[in-house]
Amino acid sequence: MVKAEAVHKSFGLAHILKGIELEVAPREVFCLVGPSGSGKSTFLRCINHLEQINAGRLWVDGELVGYRQKGDKLYELKDSEVAAKRRDIGMVFQRFNLFPHMTAIENVMEAPMQVKGESKATARARAERLLDRVGLADKAANYPSQLSGGQQQRVAIARALAMEPKLMLFDEPTSALDPELVGDVLDVMRGLAEDGMTMIVVTHEMGFAREVGDALVFMDDGIVVEAGNPRDVLSNPQHERTKAFLSKVL
Ligand code: ATP
Ligand code: MG
Repeated sequence: MVKAEAVHKSFGLAHILKGIELEVAPREVFCLVGPSGSGKSTFLRCINHLEQINAGRLWVDGELVGYRQKGDKLYELKDSEVAAKRRDIGMVFQRFNLFPHMTAIENVMEAPMQVKGESKATARARAERLLDRVGLADKAANYPSQLSGGQQQRVAIARALAMEPKLMLFDEPTSALDPELVGDVLDVMRGLAEDGMTMIVVTHEMGFAREVGDALVFMDDGIVVEAGNPRDVLSNPQHERTKAFLSKVL
């Protein structure tokens, strides 16, 4: 579903991604861990067309990110084509950034109506289903300010799902939450995994990675240091850098 070959990204003189190599299979829960500043968010942003890579190749669902192939020639995507690609990828951030002036259900209905031109009735029916799925059927009429952080994050997940993405990216979705609110969000993500959603999850929740993850990559300083089955990597890390990192977070 996602494949990176020698992906490099710099911001000015700062070389951030230094040859990322990885592959995410369809329906896989792919956990990405690593110290602050190692380039995890940058990599997610490259997958989602928010940043352009400088070298290497990156594929999402068999297509080269940022390009369209015609015969054996590559053409850069136009903005409208990029926007179309981004619709297929859901993203959930650390901060939930819901639209504050819209209720929970309006937040979930917004993109399908605005972007896909869906009717209000269709969008509402799906939003009701999605809010039910994230355990918030009874909060549909609440504004974000009337929801807990964990509830807001679950609305954010429902909002991303409303576009029926084929890939979901999570960037530390629980790290801004009070500890007692983390479990509900992880439960929703676990349910998504059980339904077969392909997910890349940047997280410090090693319990989640161990139980739900199919693969775990440890990234440091812009490269993949170690990758494997989460249980193996977490219980028997091979590299000193992985060991040092895990000793701090486990
Ligand atoms: P964290 O765990 O703290 O979220 P991260 O692994 O997600 O860290 P990134 O956010 O990808 O790290 O940042 C990697 C490096 O790239 C950092 O040094 C950051 O300052 C730099 N960086 C990220 N975005 C930009 C940008 N738009 N312009 C310049 N530098 C950037
Ligand atoms: Mg980050």
